[in-house]
Amino acid sequence: MFSSSILKEKISDMKKIALAGSTGSIGCNTLEIIRQNPENLSLVSLSAGNNWQKLVEQAVEFRPEFVAIAAEEHFDKVKRALSHLKIEVAAGSEAVSAAASWPQADTLVAAIVGAAGLRPVMAAIRAGKHICLANKETLVVAGDLVTREVAAGKLRLIPVDSEHSAIFQAIGDGAEFVEKLIITASGGPFRTYSKDQMQGITVDQALKHPNWNMGGKITIDSATLMNKGLEVIEAHWLFSVGYDAIEVVVHPQSIIHSLVEFCDGSVIAQLGWPDMKLPIQYALSWPERWGRAVKSLDLIKVGAMTFEKPDLARFPLLELAYACGRCGGIMPCILNAANEVAVNGFLAKRIGFNQISSTVIDTVERFSNEKVYSLDQLLDADRQARIYAKEILEEAK
Ligand code: NDP
Repeated sequence: MFSSSILKEKISDMKKIALAGSTGSIGCNTLEIIRQNPENLSLVSLSAGNNWQKLVEQAVEFRPEFVAIAAEEHFDKVKRALSHLKIEVAAGSEAVSAAASWPQADTLVAAIVGAAGLRPVMAAIRAGKHICLANKETLVVAGDLVTREVAAGKLRLIPVDSEHSAIFQAIGDGAEFVEKLIITASGGPFRTYSKDQMQGITVDQALKHPNWNMGGKITIDSATLMNKGLEVIEAHWLFSVGYDAIEVVVHPQSIIHSLVEFCDGSVIAQLGWPDMKLPIQYALSWPERWGRAVKSLDLIKVGAMTFEKPDLARFPLLELAYACGRCGGIMPCILNAANEVAVNGFLAKRIGFNQISSTVIDTVERFSNEKVYSLDQLLDADRQARIYAKEILEEAK
């Protein structure tokens, strides 16, 4: 039957946190959890991409030992702004990996968006850090490598994504009895749009998620249902469950965050208002539970909960993600890279909403699969796919 890649053992009382992607939506929510739990959590390193002002504010408040900014042009500004404090500052992608694997940290909260999060996560695993994973693209691109190295290092890989946190909570000690995972999806803002209506979707419309307040990339992924496809692949690696045993159900109210069906027919779900603070805190508190992270669920206020089948004709990326996941090898990496390029192209208003899926489909069709041997091979496949997807975007101009 199924075995979980998440190892259980008693965890020390105070966790020392490295936070990668601190300036984003998950990063800021993580800092809020650290603020609320000073007796359990201390922050030892921070890293971000571009937003140096916010990074500096966070460093002044939390006083970590090390701060890294990916964009090297901001190094001087960060260094100067923190010169009165005992904080080491560095810039560039190596510095982001150094922050993730900072010697004093025991746990990395991986909250960088996209495949850019992969190297820091691998650096942290190789330095023996436990991982609380929001950055789903890491498992999509390199699920096999990551889970093998986590297991070899006897580390914990705990999901932050709300659906996977729900599954993790529902499974409890019953991993060997799992028969099916049911991942819920809100359906995004265009769930009820006709094919014609989907022609003229604007960036502003796509950025308005009905239930969740998230970063730009994941919000667009939610609108195309690619986010659910990425989550299916993420669930496959996190819980060692085959693709035929992972179902996606549209649940527009986003109250049930996912469900697990066991071999005796029992189905266990995790419920709550949509708020990432709970799955972030649970990833950090597990196997304990700390004080209230979200307001109490009021079922009378929720009223009705409904469920639908996803429409694969209007949202073809979900089916494509299943197909790439089943292929394995480099195909999920190609899928992810093409999607990142297409989503950036849409956000920059260079292509329309429907061209996100056509760009990803065209790119995936262009590549032949390969067995994965190394991280460098995956990073090379990622580069190649981006080049091809960008060419498609150029032609679309
Ligand atoms: P945001 O866009 O809000 O934040 C992304 C973070 O990554 C920012 O701190 C950004 O820095 C940083 N970053 C980007 N590129 C680099 C880089 N090359 N090196 C270092 N840091 C970098 O994203 P979210 O917080 O929404 O999402 C983060 C991850 O969590 C994604 O993988 C997403 O799928 C996942 N997730 C998010 C959820 C949510 O509710 N937001 C829910 C579940 C999963 P800067 O802004 O300074 O450039």
